[in-house]
Amino acid sequence: MNEKRRILIADDDNDLRSMSKEIFESEGFEVIEAANGEDALKLALEEKPDLVLTDVIMPKMDGVTLMQELRKDEWGKTVPIIALSNVDSPEGILKAIDSNVTTYLVKGNWKLEEIVGKVKEKLN
Ligand SMILES: [Mg+2]
Repeated sequence: MNEKRRILIADDDNDLRSMSKEIFESEGFEVIEAANGEDALKLALEEKPDLVLTDVIMPKMDGVTLMQELRKDEWGKTVPIIALSNVDSPEGILKAIDSNVTTYLVKGNWKLEEIVGKVKEKLN
């Protein structure tokens, strides 16, 4: 890896977001963060991170809308996205996403370390 991989973490849970940031940084990632979907969309389009890791339930703009908006953008069309939520049967979520480029994980089933592994897998 010659260049630092940059990821955007969008989550309205401040504790979870800082824990994630810390662990990703310790794994050599550069992390940019947003606490709602609206900020996440703006940041993503400006900074074009290598991957977007997003919560689904967030204020201002939820993660599903965020994903839909990103997919309308020429760059955002292909950026890998990992969506995380506590919703166990995410019919609405799954309908909204393109499973070729988007991965959906149920928050409670995944440890942060495993999510890091998933991110690495997606970036390879
Ligand atoms: Mg949330």
